[in-house]
Amino acid sequence: MFKPKSIFFEKDIENYALGRQLMEQYKDVPKVEIESHNAIEEMRKKENKEFLNMKGNLIIGVRKTHKFVPNHKISDFLVPYTSSGCIAACMYCYLVCNYNKCAYLRLFVNREKMLEKIIRTAENSEKTLTFEIGSNSDLILENTITNNLVWTIENFKNTKNGFLTFPTKFDMVNSLLNLEHNNKVIIRMSVNPEEIINNVEFGTSRLKGRIEAINKLKEAGYKVGILIAPVIFVENWKPLYLELIQRLSNELSEKVKKDLFFEVIFMTYSYVHTKINEEAFPDSINLYNKEIMTGRGRGKYWYKESIRQEGEKFFREELAKYFPNNDIIYIV
Ligand code: SF4
Repeated sequence: MFKPKSIFFEKDIENYALGRQLMEQYKDVPKVEIESHNAIEEMRKKENKEFLNMKGNLIIGVRKTHKFVPNHKISDFLVPYTSSGCIAACMYCYLVCNYNKCAYLRLFVNREKMLEKIIRTAENSEKTLTFEIGSNSDLILENTITNNLVWTIENFKNTKNGFLTFPTKFDMVNSLLNLEHNNKVIIRMSVNPEEIINNVEFGTSRLKGRIEAINKLKEAGYKVGILIAPVIFVENWKPLYLELIQRLSNELSEKVKKDLFFEVIFMTYSYVHTKINEEAFPDSINLYNKEIMTGRGRGKYWYKESIRQEGEKFFREELAKYFPNNDIIYIV
């Protein structure tokens, strides 16, 4: 389990069972009391090169915003849930909006309030709703610290008209396998070629582990998906992604392949990423490529239309070849 270097905590967390549990679990770790998890003065002053060091800290607070954001890709709503940020360090992570604020893992202990709102919204709805609860962090990773996913699935399983979904890059799924989930949870495994995982997605599970995890989750009755994301157009992207698709075809179980679905997302990048990565990972590859990327407003970059089109054609053709019976929900 993750052992933080320091814990920054809001006083109020002691009024919540999970807050008390975490303080006990980490009783030997040095602690600093803070006013708000959103404004930690000590962190704001750090330099970019300290990015990885900062991820060794854990912030524990109470979530104040509970606004659901309508979504039209794989869910009906993006829901702020029990954590934000992450202890891994993928070089493109979109949670690195401003490293002082978002990079490290923040846990929110008022989980009862958050789940109650989801359940109430589902039960008051006339149509079935899907809630994306993993857009701010990686819940499989978080679960190894808080057990929140186990708690969530157990408390959500009898909800009418609702599904939960989240993506992950981790393989620590054993605690979910024997749960009664009533088919209410859709788990999407995010994958990339081995070479990209090793050189860009620092601190995440290896491809082999991710594939094994998805096979185990399917065997345990969960609905599963594969998220090829983010696609990074490195020089040799075609053979790398072809090999990935072939590996998935060979190593995913027949049961998974029966009703698996795909999402494909091309990488977006930003000026903030470039600055952090240059200083925090000076020996790593440069993900910004001005030949094939273009501005997208507010310091963000994405791939030019011509390479996006080539990418879409490639994924549609190759997935149709190796997974002729599976849907691609979207390519963006
Ligand atoms: S695992 Fe997910 S949340 Fe964590 S750094 Fe990587 S992309 Fe970000």
